[in-house]
Amino acid sequence: MSKIGFIGLGNMGLPMSIGLMNSGYEVIGFDVNEERSLLFKKSGGNIALSSADLVAESDVILTSLPSNKAVEAVYLNKGGLLDHCNSSQVVIDTSTVAPELNQQLEASLSERSIPFLAAPVSGGVVGAENQTLTVMVGGKEETFQKVKDILNVIGGNVFHVGEQIDKGTTVKLINNLLIGFYTAGVSEALQIANQKDIDLNDLFSMMNVSYGQSRIYERNYKTFIEPNDFNPGFALKLLRKDLEFAMEVADNNQLDLPISKSLLDLYRNLEHQGYGDQDMAVLYKYLKDTIDQ
Ligand code: NAD
Repeated sequence: MSKIGFIGLGNMGLPMSIGLMNSGYEVIGFDVNEERSLLFKKSGGNIALSSADLVAESDVILTSLPSNKAVEAVYLNKGGLLDHCNSSQVVIDTSTVAPELNQQLEASLSERSIPFLAAPVSGGVVGAENQTLTVMVGGKEETFQKVKDILNVIGGNVFHVGEQIDKGTTVKLINNLLIGFYTAGVSEALQIANQKDIDLNDLFSMMNVSYGQSRIYERNYKTFIEPNDFNPGFALKLLRKDLEFAMEVADNNQLDLPISKSLLDLYRNLEHQGYGDQDMAVLYKYLKDTIDQ
């Protein structure tokens, strides 16, 4: 069985790596944040002292990182994956990054014949914990075949979207644009219920059997709005990042998407007001607090 190295043990990476261990894989982890490394260790994982040490111990290397900048650092900086990996390994980035970065990484890694897939995921922390993530993969078929068993462990729904490296990311960005819309819609619509004294639990039960239902409504309401706890989850700043990438794809394809643009402005504005590290569902609380003032 392949040995797996997992870089980035955050909200997603930690449960994904634990799921792989629980399914019988030997997993070695690395995170720049010591607290996250300790959490992994407490769950029975081995910790590498550096990404170079991790690579030396692994057949397949997965990354789950928060930004383009972090992915560039882990892959391309001196002492990073590009310097240490070899053609017998497979590297998989599950982070959501700009499609251009997928292309840049593939170009750099292929110069050293290092097989690479860009495989962003959807389903959130709960999906990662339950190993039911959707995995949207771009990259060579041959590489996909080598690691599809591993991808099937982290996600119940694995789609090889195409050989073009950024194909999976494009699908993921469409998904997150929809998430941005649904989150905004739920956040505003629930304010009407509050004003008209309609109990939010009752509303949820009724919407759940109506066309107003959505998985994002369920997630945002049950996990964050009802308990009034906006600890992420999916940080608002990460959603803002993904909407920016989606808008870049639209711009690069001469697409004008005015409603999506105003949505991006909304999330940017909230991040400027200090809500970036809270779950995206905090938009509901922000609107409620503004109305109640
Ligand atoms: P996170 O911020 O919780 O975790 C990222 C981890 O990477 C952190 O623990 C951080 O310390 C670590 N890290 C940063 N730079 C590093 C480096 N140079 N070397 C090693 N570790 C480093 O983010 P997350 O919510 O887990 O999201 C990770 C990725 O998955 C993002 O690209 C996000 O867009 C995507 N995603 C998140 C969700 C979600 O619900 N949270 C869902 C789907 C996809």
